[in-house]
Amino acid sequence: PEVVLSAQNLVKHYPIKRGVLRRTVGHVKAVDGVSFDLHKGETLGIVGESGCGKSTLGRLLMRLEEPTAGSVTFEGQDWSGASARDTRRLRRDIQIVFQDPYTSLNPRMTVGDIIGEPFEIHADVVPKGGRRQRVQELLDLVGLNPEHINRYPHQFSGGQRQRIGIARGIALNPKVLICDEPVSALDVSVQAQVVNLMEKLQDELGLAYVFIAHDLSVVRHISDRVGVMYLGRMAELGEEDEVYARPTHPYTQALLSAVPVPDPTLRGKRDQIVLVGDVPSPANPPSGCRFHTRCWKAQDVCSTLEPELEPRADGHGEHLSACHFAEPRLVVETVDVTGIE
Ligand code: SF4
Ligand code: MG
Repeated sequence: PEVVLSAQNLVKHYPIKRGVLRRTVGHVKAVDGVSFDLHKGETLGIVGESGCGKSTLGRLLMRLEEPTAGSVTFEGQDWSGASARDTRRLRRDIQIVFQDPYTSLNPRMTVGDIIGEPFEIHADVVPKGGRRQRVQELLDLVGLNPEHINRYPHQFSGGQRQRIGIARGIALNPKVLICDEPVSALDVSVQAQVVNLMEKLQDELGLAYVFIAHDLSVVRHISDRVGVMYLGRMAELGEEDEVYARPTHPYTQALLSAVPVPDPTLRGKRDQIVLVGDVPSPANPPSGCRFHTRCWKAQDVCSTLEPELEPRADGHGEHLSACHFAEPRLVVETVDVTGIE
């Protein structure tokens, strides 16, 4: 498949400064060596607990922040070496939708101004006289009434506001939309509507999504592939059905065991893997495999040797796991997990 966006060994470390002299005493390793390709028109779900670096990753892909190391390429072109002119084009082709539709829209701007704002920055995309009509088309596209163009954000519900955020995100006809927890702030019933809208837009516009979420069940429906992050690294990456049916990384297995089983006949036939302890600080990640302090499968080697994200044992080539002892495991089965501390 054609690669549209690619991350190579992306790293983002934030200095921790202390004292009157603001001396750097350490670094928060928010993203610490992440690589993947995003294919044209696909949805890549990125999942992980808060603090795993998934939002920082989204901001790095958009170049809202500069990486400490590594690179992002869009259609084969390296972001970091781009001229001012190319950077403008890249900023048009990669857009973002933020989590919170309540705070990400300026309350003093009309919906028309909010959605049309990108045209001010990229004035060449839509001629000035055609902007109002284009905004109305966008409102219609996201399922809102085009006649409401002069209303203010507070006159809309949460779900409608996220539709406004999406309309703004697609205003410039981008090729990639970074979606940073776009439905996390919404009621469950509204979540499904927004996810359905996003799928419709993807099919109509050929968009590729990086869909960031902390909830595996939200990502499943929309994703073609899923990446699971833990403490700034990718633990597992693969096709959606592979990762959900045959997760190979113990962390993914634990996350999936906590997702409620919709089929009542399977309830109780599955052991829940309860992870002990908190996620360690990203300022001081554990040596070796950074999951080893919480992993029930950990061996001696795990605390000294960091596993690479690579194809494992009998898995598909496209199914990658960063675990020395990765093995596919059906989540819905009875297994002995008495080894958990
Ligand atoms: Fe667990 Fe070791 Fe695999 Fe890390 S490498 S996930 S500690 S078994
Ligand atoms: Mg899809």
